[in-house]
Amino acid sequence: MKNANVTHKITQGMYVLTAGNGGCVVDAVAQVSGGDNPLVSVAVMKKNLTNELVKKNGKFALSVLGMNVDPQIIKDFGFRSGRDADKYAGADLGEAAGVKYLNGAIAYMVCEVVDTVENDTHTLFIGRTIEGDILKDESPMSYGYYQEHKNDLMQVKTEKGKTAWVCTICGYVYYGETLPDNYVCPICGVGPELFEIQK
Ligand code: FE
Repeated sequence: MKNANVTHKITQGMYVLTAGNGGCVVDAVAQVSGGDNPLVSVAVMKKNLTNELVKKNGKFALSVLGMNVDPQIIKDFGFRSGRDADKYAGADLGEAAGVKYLNGAIAYMVCEVVDTVENDTHTLFIGRTIEGDILKDESPMSYGYYQEHKNDLMQVKTEKGKTAWVCTICGYVYYGETLPDNYVCPICGVGPELFEIQK
């Protein structure tokens, strides 16, 4: 390929996919049929707990994140695993057709899984929409916008007068003059090479 980044030019959105008692941030969502209950496809990483939850429950909800989404939603659902944390704790949730969705979204849709396609890294779930509503009159956030602005969106405020190390992946702050060589971010699990110092 002349440029492997060519797929970055595909327009994708920002969603939280929920199923059972967990969820994660996803971007690869598309409507793939018409009609009153259109089919929607979503790709979910195989290693994510949410992948198992969708398979186990046979239903999922997609909460569409808007331009003014609370960044905490992205942190809570995008930067940590449901294996380590209860992602629903503290989340503002609604429920439709037996599936939780986020009240902080601009819209939600609930789907029943009708087909799955496995590839090397992801499972492509195809779901029939059975419920859904628009919650807010706000434009959806695109994945490209998020990537371009994530430093501002996720900006972390640290306490003045203290040396802080900020995880560039999830925004977790470690206070101390030096960061131990074997340090592991307690939220997202990365090492010290992905922390940046802030004074
Ligand atoms: Fe982190």
